[in-house]
Amino acid sequence: MSRVFHRHTREELPSAAKGEGCYIVDTDGKRYLDASGGAAVSCLGHSHPAVQTAIREQLEQISFAHTGFFSNPPMEALADILIDQAPEGLERVYFVSGGSEAMEAAVKMARQYFLEIGQKQRTKLIARRQSYHGNTLGALSLGGNMWRREPFQPILLENAHHIAPCYAYRDKRHDESEEAYGLRAANELEKKILELGSDTVAAFACEPVVGATAGALPAVPGYLKRIREICDQYGVLLIFDEVMCGMGRTGHLFACAEDGVSPDLLCIAKGLGAGYQPIGALLVAGKIFNAIQQGSGFFQHGHTYMGHPLACAAALAVQKVIRDENLLENVQRRGAELRAALEERFGNHHFVGDIRGRGLFIGIELVADRASKQPFDPKLALHNKIKKKAMQEGLICYPGGGTIDGQQGNHILLAPPFIIDETHIAEIVDKLGRVLDSVFAEAKAVA
Ligand code: PMP
Repeated sequence: MSRVFHRHTREELPSAAKGEGCYIVDTDGKRYLDASGGAAVSCLGHSHPAVQTAIREQLEQISFAHTGFFSNPPMEALADILIDQAPEGLERVYFVSGGSEAMEAAVKMARQYFLEIGQKQRTKLIARRQSYHGNTLGALSLGGNMWRREPFQPILLENAHHIAPCYAYRDKRHDESEEAYGLRAANELEKKILELGSDTVAAFACEPVVGATAGALPAVPGYLKRIREICDQYGVLLIFDEVMCGMGRTGHLFACAEDGVSPDLLCIAKGLGAGYQPIGALLVAGKIFNAIQQGSGFFQHGHTYMGHPLACAAALAVQKVIRDENLLENVQRRGAELRAALEERFGNHHFVGDIRGRGLFIGIELVADRASKQPFDPKLALHNKIKKKAMQEGLICYPGGGTIDGQQGNHILLAPPFIIDETHIAEIVDKLGRVLDSVFAEAKAVA
């Protein structure tokens, strides 16, 4: 009997014994194609020799030196490689151990920035519904996934407010262009800022491409530009959460680069270390760093394992492989191929409402009725069935049940390693086809 407190206490999980490129092998020898990189993490696949070597070599030097006392060479080198490629204005990197920690740091840094510049009345935060920013209390307060928030609502931050997501499939009117919809959706931010009092808002946070709660949902063109304008107009800091969509997942190192928009604070994690070590980071605009440096002189925050040398060495190796092997090109090319193959197999499927995404970050939204976009009854718990069936088939995908105005909607997120080739694409579509055929046959029987 396992003594581990697993996430799902009633479920027996296979035990992962080995990683081989795009596959995970369990202790019984069964192979699983990792079509979601876990949760958009394993962008280089598993057991990459260059990353293994980098970790081993760093281990022989030093594995831990507290950042209160020391910097360390892999941390410095990783900061250089990130800032060299970062969106304009981002000049410093604050290292942490994961996505939630990055978001917590972003919120606290935004608050401290306003204290440093003498605007202590800026205490309010705005984020979007149908978003996920992490499970720690601050990050959860920002997130707009009502199912995740509900049990903890009484102990969440009271100053976090929400606006609608940019969700063209559900919210764009038929007679409206994408651009017009994007402006309308972004202008909700202005309305909310004015409603709360424009000089009381500290920051707005969003995922440029929504991941876990909506299944790879990109903003429409122009949306993020308008968001940036509104933040500038009212002196509000803009936080992009690229924990899932960043670090090459969309075919660009930073998803927001495609929209031509730079935030003031940018959070990354998953693909940064590709799962080889736990690591996250917060990229910080020069003006924020300068205000803190010239003000109190230190950021009043910190964690024991930040800037961990082994984690930084692993992430540095991951980023070098991506750069040296030109993997972002593969993300764009294979992403287009996977998308086309999914369109061909599921594009006219009665239960498939939308296939969307960017690069190798693809979402399939499942609906009970294609014409009305009616979501499946949440009681069916379709996402659990899809995950279970997929694991039986030897496929790791990331099905979710998001929240659509209080209702549950279903989607499947695909985020395979950047190294996939055409055989993996064929295997993903084939296995997913069998999974959905079987789950939908069951759903129909129940309906
Ligand atoms: N933000 C986003 C967009 C995420 O997808 C996640 C993780 N799914 C997080 C934050 C939290 O990251 P972590 O689980 O590493 O704390």
